[in-house]
Order: sequence, then C-alpha cells, then structure tokens
Amino acid sequence: MKTFFNTLVVMLCISISACSQTSTEISKNPTTKTASTKEDWKKVLTPEQYAVTCEGSTERAFTGKYWNNHEEGMYKCVRCGYELFSSETKYDSGSGWPSFYDVVPGSHVEKSTDNEIGYPRTEVKCPKCGAHLGHVFNDGPNPTGMRYCINSASLNFEKK
Ligand SMILES: [Zn+2]
Repeated sequence: MKTFFNTLVVMLCISISACSQTSTEISKNPTTKTASTKEDWKKVLTPEQYAVTCEGSTERAFTGKYWNNHEEGMYKCVRCGYELFSSETKYDSGSGWPSFYDVVPGSHVEKSTDNEIGYPRTEVKCPKCGAHLGHVFNDGPNPTGMRYCINSASLNFEKK
C-alpha cells in the first residue's frame, strides 16, 4: 500500500511539473502563444481575442485597433504568429474592419462556408492553429476581387 502511495505522489509531481512547464512557455514568448484546449486559450488571450478566435464572434465595426492602421508591416495570427496578411494588400473598405484583397503569398488560410446569417458566408481561419479570423467576400477591389474582412482581435501587427 505504501509503495502504491509513493507511486501516486511521484506521478502527481510529474503532472504538476508538466503543467508548470506549459505556462513558462506561454509567458516566455507572448507573441507566439501555445495552448491545446479552449480553456488554455482562455488563460493566455484577452476576453475579446478569445471570443473572436475561439468562438467565432465579430468585434464591433470601427472599434478594433487595426481597421484604420496605415503603417507598413505584417499582420500575424494573434495566437500562433503565422503570417497572414501584408499591409501591401490592405485597403480602406469603409466597413470598419481591417480589409485585405489577398493573403500573404504562400499562406493558405482555411476557408469554410456557413449560412448562419441567412446567406452563404465564407469563414477564414488560421491554417496553423485554427483561430477564427473573419470572413471573405467577393466584393473586393482588383486584382483579386476579394475582400478579407478580418477582426483586429485575431491579428498582431508587426511594423516593418
Ligand atoms: Zn494561428
């Protein structure tokens, strides 16, 4: 019985140290967050980042930090740091959300169509971590004709 108890204590210690290791990793690199469950994401993201990237909600128009950002640089996934959009393809759509007519060359965002608001809408997700980013519509400018309507809360801007 005592041996069993000792084994239990050892196992408990191992699992505790495994947990603390994960949190050290999170705090070490704030721009590249790692978490495997929704509960973990809740701990490392702000409530708004969590609502958008994990639950697919949409921030209110003209409230995000990047809709009116005109600086040159790269927009990366707020969760995993994957490069998604460049300032070169950002344009003023007047919608109140950061809008791009294309993704970064070589970046393959995940797309899936839903009918939640009564007409087909194509959701855009980060290909690396699956974070919800926003939607893509086919009323954008040349040369692609696409409008990637993205939530600021799902992005991290890195100035050139
Ligand atoms: Zn990501």
